[in-house]
Formats: sequence, C-alpha cells, structure tokens
Amino acid sequence: MRKKLIVGNWKMNLNLEEARRLILDIRLTLAEIKDVEVAVCPSFLHLAMVGFQLPTNIKLGAQNCFWERFGQYTGEISPVQLKNLRCDYVILGHSERRQYLKENDVMIAQKLEAVLASGMTPILCVGETKEEREKKLTAAKLDEQVQVPLEDLTREQIRKIVIAYEPVWAIGKGLAARPQDAQQVAKFIRKILDKKYDEKTAEMVRILYGGSVDSKNIIEFVSQPSIDGALVGRASLKAEEFVDIVKNVTEVKNASRI
Ligand code: PEP
Repeated sequence: MRKKLIVGNWKMNLNLEEARRLILDIRLTLAEIKDVEVAVCPSFLHLAMVGFQLPTNIKLGAQNCFWERFGQYTGEISPVQLKNLRCDYVILGHSERRQYLKENDVMIAQKLEAVLASGMTPILCVGETKEEREKKLTAAKLDEQVQVPLEDLTREQIRKIVIAYEPVWAIGKGLAARPQDAQQVAKFIRKILDKKYDEKTAEMVRILYGGSVDSKNIIEFVSQPSIDGALVGRASLKAEEFVDIVKNVTEVKNASRI
C-alpha cells in the first residue's frame, strides 16, 4: 500500500526568520501525524536551519540539485551536500526550472540518477502547458517527460521515485485541475510505467498532484485511487493552511479504512 505524501514547496520565498517561524508553527501542530508522510522544501539557504527544527515525522527536501558530486560547478549544489544536511527528498524538473533555467529531460535524467545514488528520493515533476493541453498534446508530453528521465534507471530505482503531475496551467493560479482529470492523468502515467517496465513498478510508484492545492480541494484529490498526495506551493507558506491540508489527508485515509 502506498503511503500518502504531502510535500510543501516553499520556492524562493521567506527570509530566515520567516522560515524559522513557519517551521516552528508547522511542527507544533503536526508533531503527532504518523499515517501521512510530510516533507517541506525550503530554499537551499534555509535547509540547515529548518532541518534542525524538524521533528522526526517531518522530512526535509530540496527544490533542485546538480548531477555531479563535487567539483568546479560554481553556484551549484551537490546531492552529497544535500544528503549531508539530512535531506530525504529532492524536487527535480519543476516547470519553473524548465521554463526559466531551460532544464530539459536529459539534464533531469542525470539529476535523477545522482539523487538516487546519494540515497535520497527524487520527486520528478511532469505536466503539460496550457497550449499543449489545448492542442491535445498532454499524453505525448507526459510520455516524453516520464520516459526520457527514467531511461537508464533500473526497475528497483524507478520504484523508489515519486512523480508529481503538475499541469503548468494550474500552478500558482488558484485554479486547480479537476480531480477526475488529474486521476485520469495519474492512471495514464501508471500505464506508461506498466508498458515500459511492469505492473508491480506501476503500482509501487507514488504519484502526487500539484497545482493550486488547498485545504478544501485536497480531499477530492487524495480520494482518487491513483493519486497518493500533493506537491503544494502557495498554500504551504501558511502554517495553518498546510497543517489543515495534512490533517484532511489523514481523515480521508481514516475514512477509507472503514
Ligand atoms: C508548485 O509549484 O509545485 C505548486 C504546486 O504551486 P501552487 O500550489 O502554488 O500551485
């Protein structure tokens, strides 16, 4: 059974004191949560400080990393350095990095391998733009974004990764995808994995939805059979809202046991 996962992506927000305040507020109310896995991804500058404040049930994640371990790569951050700060997750291929930093699937493939080799879990972001959606290119885009980065990984490695379906048109806009549509896409991603690898791999990979998730719509997203949680941007910057998202996931989980 796939454990539900809620990841907060703080992006390029907050100063040191604001980040400290946010994690202390989250920690205060989520200390008892066990059934749902929770992770927060602050900016690189705040990783160490946030890491020291985390209780054992909240994991630390980074928003990106480089593919080499060490060396002459000015301005880059190594997966080994992230692991050393006790990061468990690394977000890779976020649409904002694809858009502004021109990251492509080949670069993301190298990063995936490096993150796995360092003993962390990559969260691979995939998703179509508004234009691609209108031209009915969603399936073709996802095929490429899932298959190219996974090309050189073993089945065992693939089973460890998390995929976040984040339709670009839904990110930061306050306009989420319809949960049933996100479910169809998550199912399609599992179909790609099944066809290329096997049913077990397709069943084991956790798939998150991301794009304008809040404490209200989360319930319907995590009630979909192929969706295992969410990657949360804006709503993860408010402690109360983020905590409510996690608590609502716990309730869905408990209700589905009955
Ligand atoms: C994101 O950028 O990963 C994201 C999901 O952002 P938001 O929740 O703000 O749409």
